[in-house]
Amino acid sequence: MFSVTDVTAGYGESTVLRGVSLEVPDGTVAALLGPNGAGKTTLMRVAAGLIRPRSGRLSLGGADITRSSPNQRVKRGLCHIPEGRGVFPSLTVRENLSLQSAPGQQAQSIERAVSAFPRLGERLPQLAGTMSGGEQQMLALARAYIQNPRVVLLDEVSLGLAPKVVDEIFEFLAKLRDGGAALVLVEQYVNRALALADQVYLLNRGEIVFSGSPDQVDEATLFEQYVGVG
Ligand code: ATP
Repeated sequence: MFSVTDVTAGYGESTVLRGVSLEVPDGTVAALLGPNGAGKTTLMRVAAGLIRPRSGRLSLGGADITRSSPNQRVKRGLCHIPEGRGVFPSLTVRENLSLQSAPGQQAQSIERAVSAFPRLGERLPQLAGTMSGGEQQMLALARAYIQNPRVVLLDEVSLGLAPKVVDEIFEFLAKLRDGGAALVLVEQYVNRALALADQVYLLNRGEIVFSGSPDQVDEATLFEQYVGVG
């Protein structure tokens, strides 16, 4: 279980998140939706440990991680895929994957990555930065996958990708969830997010204004939130 409890956070003088709480049990997907500037990326950064909250708590698998560094969170199985992917463009695909694996485990890690995304197997010697956007996103997800993560924070993983690639990525996310990971998904394709999610959180102006199952989200509410009314 990954949980955020009553978190307030921001940048400098400005407060972006106000009393935000969410709970993501193992093997489930939480979709975090909301208009531009609502604070979705900020919440992902707080969860990853890149921004320290002013108040509130975070926990992972029963342990309090509020004061843990990003690295300590990674060691506990938390994996953050930031917007814009986070692969090393000037390293090869093989090097990107090797960096993520435990010493002596490179071969197994690469095998695991290729089993998730066979296309990467054909591109191991290629510089990551020369691959297509979709392939780079697959690499970013494969790097997460080889760590066997317990919690995966996904910020706009489908941004700018072709629908077929997005299908492939969403199939992979379903597999990650079925393997027991807890996923937090920030996603511009609302319908895809709703199709995968167990729980939906709507964030507006830094506050959770709705949480419920996807079938409780009615279009009127979504529309209101997206045009920023209220
Ligand atoms: P989008 O859907 O547009 O990506 P978002 O919901 O992810 O939006 P955030 O990126 O979290 O929203 O931004 C929330 C607010 O925090 C915005 O007003 C933004 O300008 C501000 N903000 C984001 N990053 C910083 C930063 N590094 N320094 C100062 N303010 C920031």
